[in-house]
Amino acid sequence: MKTIVVLGAGLAAAPLMRQIMRTTVLTRNNLKMIVVAPNTHFHWPIAMPRVVVPGQMADDKVMFPLEPIFREYPADKFEFVLGKASALDPSGNIVTVALNAGDNRAISYDTLVIATGASAKDDMPWKVLDTTEKTVERLHSLQRDIKSAKTIVVAGGGLTGAETAGELGFEYAKSGQKDVYFVHSGDLPLAPPVLQSVRKQTQTELEKMKVKMVANTTVTKATRMGRDTVLELRAADGSTTTLTTQAYIPTTGVTPNTAFAPASMLNGHGYIKQTTRLQAEGHADIFVVGDAGSLEAPKAQNAEAQTIHLIKALPLHLDGGALPEYQVNTKDVYGVTLGRSRATGQMGGFKLFSFLIWYVKGRFLGTDYAPLFAAGKKTMMTTFEK
Ligand SMILES: Cc1cc2nc3c(=O)[nH]c(=O)nc-3n(C[C@H](O)[C@H](O)[C@H](O)COP(=O)(O)OP(=O)(O)OC[C@H]3O[C@@H](n4cnc5c(N)ncnc54)[C@H](O)[C@@H]3O)c2cc1C
Repeated sequence: MKTIVVLGAGLAAAPLMRQIMRTTVLTRNNLKMIVVAPNTHFHWPIAMPRVVVPGQMADDKVMFPLEPIFREYPADKFEFVLGKASALDPSGNIVTVALNAGDNRAISYDTLVIATGASAKDDMPWKVLDTTEKTVERLHSLQRDIKSAKTIVVAGGGLTGAETAGELGFEYAKSGQKDVYFVHSGDLPLAPPVLQSVRKQTQTELEKMKVKMVANTTVTKATRMGRDTVLELRAADGSTTTLTTQAYIPTTGVTPNTAFAPASMLNGHGYIKQTTRLQAEGHADIFVVGDAGSLEAPKAQNAEAQTIHLIKALPLHLDGGALPEYQVNTKDVYGVTLGRSRATGQMGGFKLFSFLIWYVKGRFLGTDYAPLFAAGKKTMMTTFEK
């Protein structure tokens, strides 16, 4: 019996698991798949900027239990191990797993797929926060803070920050119910390769919703004082000031979930060195897809393109065939949702119509097809036959 071990049960893993199970593992005698992940549910990060707004979207719009999805596979062909990879020995083909229940378990693999993604910084529930339970707890406490706050501060000028400021602006700032500040380090929100025109429109739309823009500034310290958090802000000219909030929402980027891998497998930023055949550099039996890999920016669009490639390439690898080369995405596509009625974005060097992005992304933030994504039947761009 040969074993394919998949680490992770997020956007990159979900379609791969189902498609490889159905096309390969279930059709051959000598194969089995083991999936290792700490989350009992599939999490849909793309809608989280709206989910944090109390009363907007229920948890079950963005978290889907994995057990009913996995139940259809026979036990001798498929196993789900609830835990986190804590060590990898590529020379012995062994992954050590720290089980959620407490103990460790060593799992041998013939082929390993690393799809462990990246976690949000600052203990934020934008993505899986250790376990599904902990993510839900943190999400609910954040929603409580937002509900009772007079002043809300979103910090970090990327996509998550801009979209979260937009959702909060739409819900509260526009009507004057609460003050919403958006602290970001550039002149404008977002950063190249996002077009200047898209960045400007993001700023204009946020200002229209009366979001208070604090440009060229970073949060250098956050101190909790009872129900308040006192933020120390530093402007680009070096001057400092403070801002007091009852709901501090940092959106300062992601860290790759790769601490289990030997340092020799990682690049300088902690991402797994990934070849254009989506293998871990120097390890023909280890594949890498999604945010954990070094090849492309951590975006769902890239994660799904890599996964779709590997769905075709993995059976060839199992048969000892030559692997096709993955074409790195060179077209920057961005959709930026700005509240529940506006959006902006681009395709390559072209700014797209606001309405188009609102229609494709902003209306539902993918929650209309996320259950199918969780089940591995669909991605943003592809619907599978099986
Ligand atoms: C708020 C937000 C909005 C976003 N919006 C967009 C967007 O509009 N467009 C876009 O293209 N991208 C967007 N992204 C990025 C997108 O969510 C990621 O690129 C995508 O989730 C990557 O998929 P992944 O499977 O590689 O990682 P993840 O989805 O992070 O999944 C990783 C999986 O691995 C598990 N895991 C972690 N550590 C271990 C371990 N040690 N062992 C085993 N399993 C482990 C996790 O629990 C999880 O199951 C957004 C991200 C955020 C946070």
